[in-house]
Amino acid sequence: MGNVRIIGGGLAGCEAAWQAASLGADVTIHEMRPVRPTAVHQTDRLAELVCSNSFRGDKLDNAVGLLKEEMRRLGSLVMRVADEVRVPAGAALAVDRHQFADRVTAAIEAHPRIRVERGELTSIPPSSPDSPVIVATGPLTSDALSADIAAFVGRDHLAFFDAISPIVLAESIDMSKVFRASRWNRSLRGQTPSDKTPDVLSDGDYLNCPFTKDEYIAFHQAIVTAEKTEGHDIDNTKFFEGCLPIEVMAHRGVDTLRFGPMKPAGLDVPATGRWAYAVVQLRQDTLAGDHYSLVGFQTQMKWGEQARVLRMIPGLERAEFVRFGMIHRNTYINGPTVLTDTWQARSRPDLFFAGQVSGVEGYVESAASGLIAGRNAALVSLGRDPRPAPRTTAIGALAYYVSHADPAHYNPTNITFGIMPPLDAPPRSKSDRQLATSARALDTLASWAGA
Ligand SMILES: Cc1cc2nc3c(=O)[nH]c(=O)nc-3n(C[C@H](O)[C@H](O)[C@H](O)COP(=O)(O)OP(=O)(O)OC[C@H]3O[C@@H](n4cnc5c(N)ncnc54)[C@H](O)[C@@H]3O)c2cc1C
Repeated sequence: MGNVRIIGGGLAGCEAAWQAASLGADVTIHEMRPVRPTAVHQTDRLAELVCSNSFRGDKLDNAVGLLKEEMRRLGSLVMRVADEVRVPAGAALAVDRHQFADRVTAAIEAHPRIRVERGELTSIPPSSPDSPVIVATGPLTSDALSADIAAFVGRDHLAFFDAISPIVLAESIDMSKVFRASRWNRSLRGQTPSDKTPDVLSDGDYLNCPFTKDEYIAFHQAIVTAEKTEGHDIDNTKFFEGCLPIEVMAHRGVDTLRFGPMKPAGLDVPATGRWAYAVVQLRQDTLAGDHYSLVGFQTQMKWGEQARVLRMIPGLERAEFVRFGMIHRNTYINGPTVLTDTWQARSRPDLFFAGQVSGVEGYVESAASGLIAGRNAALVSLGRDPRPAPRTTAIGALAYYVSHADPAHYNPTNITFGIMPPLDAPPRSKSDRQLATSARALDTLASWAGA
């Protein structure tokens, strides 16, 4: 009888547990909350989303859309629940974070083969082929366990910092100044691979706050001169490039924000029919539509400064902040030196790593690594051989990257088409190439999953 122990009941741990139990293993999840909280989680729920409520793009012309579709086809719990509780977000998949965590927790707790034990594990427990262990403790792995993992991997953890976006109360937004639109009019309707399309607002899923040139220049200046939280030297902190704080971008040049998260392209201002000089986008954060997050506005400005500076955004003059942006720790191992493409430790095949701590980046990627690690841990516990997913799938490419990238310059990654092998006969246009790469991936996945 297979027995799998999982440390951490986050996105990776829950998906791993679901997959392992579905293959017939008995599973124990050790989750330290609420006995021991983290600096960022706010509830005792499993699979709590700590920052954005977005699972990013949901179409097959983008790699994370492909990864999600592969997960759906492999029976992912995380994707099933995400689809059930999605909220309008253009061509992206965003979820109601409370319902998401509640439903994942309920599904895990109701599964007859899964047991959840609350409490911190301070060291990696013993593992054996009958009883493999998966470490899925995330970017905020507790200090004691981090020290034990560092001892096991034989070198210091790499640590870097990410920063998160503020959320405002919908009723505090001045609706006379903002306009509703999705970039290039891309709405959610009819564009998801699985065609799970709830009713959406036909005139766009985002609220957009348009800036004139003068407003933008003043706003940029305010960001550059705002006080930041102490203890993090803005120039020496190592940020994930896809999640840069706005002040880091603002310091790079006056136009950097305008070509980044404040890009106005594709957003016609209804009053003029033209694009604004710059735009801040607000994305609905709850199903009820009472919270909106500022898209791409991670920041480490002091909270008082955030209130002052962000109220310069047209439409947010009287904004009430449900949560301010902040800076956080990220703990991960050097995947290429430690892991194989089955998410097993090279030196200890009955020990697996999954999720952010294994060296991937993002909600979907973390759950995806948990999906394969959970399956493989169950196979090992049942006396069978673990199976890497094919490299031509997004889920397999992610594992290949984590286990084969250059260890000397290792950076956790989101899934991209760039880490998948090129096509033998690639179409000329980029979007056709991406769709063909996705079609190849889904074909390969079907044969692999059916074998
Ligand atoms: C502040 C912050 C903001 C982020 N913002 C985003 C974002 O906007 N979008 C995005 O895609 N990703 C974001 N990330 C990355 C995000 O954490 C991961 O994408 C995702 O949550 C990782 O899933 P996971 O299962 O690996 O970790 P988690 O979801 O964090 O789950 C790990 C679990 O392990 C538990 N745990 C830790 N140590 C122990 C222990 N010793 N014993 C028992 N249990 C333990 C924790 O309590 C936690 O529940 C953010 C991370 C942080 C910290």
